[in-house]
Amino acid sequence: MVIQEIPKVGTAVIGGSSLIGSGFPKLFEGVEVELDEVAFHTPFGPSAPFSLASAEDLRFLFVPFHGITKEIKNTIPNSAGERVFYVLMKAGVKKIIGTALCGSTNRLLDPADVVIPDDFVDYTVYRAQSLSRSLAEKGVEVEPIAYRLHQPFCPYLSRLLVEASKKAGFPRVFSRGVVGVSEGPRLESPAEIRVRYTDLGIDVVTMNLVPEVYFAREIGACYAALELVSNYGEGVVSIKWEGREAFRDFQERWRRPAAEAILDALKKIDEGYEACGCTTHRWRSIFNP
Ligand SMILES: [Zn+2]
Repeated sequence: MVIQEIPKVGTAVIGGSSLIGSGFPKLFEGVEVELDEVAFHTPFGPSAPFSLASAEDLRFLFVPFHGITKEIKNTIPNSAGERVFYVLMKAGVKKIIGTALCGSTNRLLDPADVVIPDDFVDYTVYRAQSLSRSLAEKGVEVEPIAYRLHQPFCPYLSRLLVEASKKAGFPRVFSRGVVGVSEGPRLESPAEIRVRYTDLGIDVVTMNLVPEVYFAREIGACYAALELVSNYGEGVVSIKWEGREAFRDFQERWRRPAAEAILDALKKIDEGYEACGCTTHRWRSIFNP
């Protein structure tokens, strides 16, 4: 079902592999679902199905797996990121939580560790770089925005995620870390992990943190992410891990705690909180998009 009207909502959760099969948000106590499986029109085509739900009076939009579906890819043109962020921009979202499974590229990290990152390196090549440029190419008039990424993740939302992840029972929760984002969909070779990640001080590798982290800044929203280590990067500790172990069995064990952590963080969000400064790191650009 495609509906035209995008509701006004202040908060959003962009789901990822860590939540697949968890039943988030509708199978969790205290959650009320207003709209389920609704898509919205965007200049890039219909969005992936969203839910609109509330938990303890906080209304939020949720889209599973970064807005990627069988029909919608994470690469340009008309990518999942462009569609999702058009919806979030029109909804007036100011607080965004993202999440994903990731591989460790730091030898100290083990599966089931949670990293709430404070920085990232983008190795992707086919992702949209500017929402305003993508919209301008579709003939949509938007104010061109320039922004800084010296503090890419919101310290306020990150703090909420750290506290909630500890409460949800993860063995170790790290309040900082650098995420490397690979284009995928293939995994990396041991040499790639070593020279592009480990040797450069990157702690974990994932595939869909971009464009979320910078599109959030572009629309003036705070963004933080829960990165859940599901496997060792190739060659980091051992090459003997199996896909089934790392993805299916692991995911079945940890998807519910990941969802509980995000839900717990959501309930504590003050949508009017601005002392983190995230909205001040952007301004009207003198250049056209
Ligand atoms: Zn913030």
